[in-house]
Amino acid sequence: MSRRHTPAKPAKTAKSAKSAKPARSGKPGNAAAAPRIQPPADGAACPCGLDAAYGDCCGRFHRGEGTAPSAERLMRSRYSAFVAGDAAYLLRTWHPDTRPERLELDPKTRWLGLEVLETSGGGAFHSEGTVRFRARFREAGREGAVDEHSTFVRLDGAWVYVTALGD
Ligand SMILES: [Zn+2]
Repeated sequence: MSRRHTPAKPAKTAKSAKSAKPARSGKPGNAAAAPRIQPPADGAACPCGLDAAYGDCCGRFHRGEGTAPSAERLMRSRYSAFVAGDAAYLLRTWHPDTRPERLELDPKTRWLGLEVLETSGGGAFHSEGTVRFRARFREAGREGAVDEHSTFVRLDGAWVYVTALGD
């Protein structure tokens, strides 16, 4: 197995170093300050589209309480992590062979919804799976969508994202 990256290095400086002081509410004229992405409240509808509260659905996986039981649930929880601004979750559910060293989520991107279009494998008795999905977003006043056919494998018992198929 060829290993091109050494992902062992923890991104320890991520949080503290550069974040500007949080823009408190009610400060007119400060709109240019970088907004932080706020995770959904535990009781809010889960962004992933399942009929469940965030705290009981993808929020559990983001907190590290258990792992997604299927490739589809992992994919949904990764979408929710984009919504919640949880780059650490995205990295730790990314296969070490394809994972980027760091990931910055753009707080200006608003994720609008996820549609799972097709799945194969990815269940309790599988070691691989694929999920085809569409994720809609708004950015700079325009709407767009990410269409992706993603592959997942089970690694040490937990599903991880590998890559996007080119179809
Ligand atoms: Zn969810």
